[in-house]
Amino acid sequence: MLEVQSLTVAYGGLRALADVSIEVMRGELVCVVGPNGAGKSTLFKAISGTVAPRSGKVVFEGVDLSTTSAAQRAHLGIAHVPEGREVFRSMSVMENLEMGAWVEAGRERFAETLDRVFSLFPKLAERRHQLAGTLSGGEQQMLAIGRGLASRPKLMMLDEPSMGLAPAVADLIFESISQLHKESGLTILLVEQRVAEAMEHSDRGYVLQTGEVVLSGTFEELSKDDRIRRAYFGM
Ligand code: ATP
Repeated sequence: MLEVQSLTVAYGGLRALADVSIEVMRGELVCVVGPNGAGKSTLFKAISGTVAPRSGKVVFEGVDLSTTSAAQRAHLGIAHVPEGREVFRSMSVMENLEMGAWVEAGRERFAETLDRVFSLFPKLAERRHQLAGTLSGGEQQMLAIGRGLASRPKLMMLDEPSMGLAPAVADLIFESISQLHKESGLTILLVEQRVAEAMEHSDRGYVLQTGEVVLSGTFEELSKDDRIRRAYFGM
């Protein structure tokens, strides 16, 4: 479904991604893990079109997106749930979900989206008229995921959904992502710093370090690598 081919991105003189290639098949849940500053968010921005690569390309469902704007990519079915959630704080839960439904597919199927989001996150149903800025961190993350779903994406990219959440709340978010993936078959690309938890819920993973993919494989394959075991799995 998604092919990132030899992507290089630089901010001025700083190279944030160097020759990065990853692949995501339809229906997979794939995670990208790595330390702070490894280039994970930059990779997502290059896929959703908010950062332009210096070289390389992003191919989605066989289409080269090099000349496709971020808005057009959203219409094609790519949703980007950003790091830090970025919900519209002075709008209600319902209004935030409506904002996510701005693409045609989202508007047409909004009632169906609400059923799906509220069954995945019953807390949001209870709080549908509450201002988003007054929700807890975990609830705001649920809302950010719900807003992403409202565009009826084919590929959903989640940037560090567990960031800043207590372990129990982060677990709940991981479980919800897993449930969403199993029930809807949605293709999900996940960026995480909580490596063990992310890998546990994923089909495959890529390890990014200082802008380069240094390893890729299943949880089992990655956990056999001594460097990864020491650095990320606490073994
Ligand atoms: P984190 O987990 O801390 O969010 P990350 O793996 O997502 O890190 P990026 O945010 O992609 O990493 O950053 C990669 C590198 O690019 C870092 O060195 C960062 O300082 C730099 N960078 C990111 N955005 C910009 C920008 N807009 N201008 C200049 N440099 C940037």
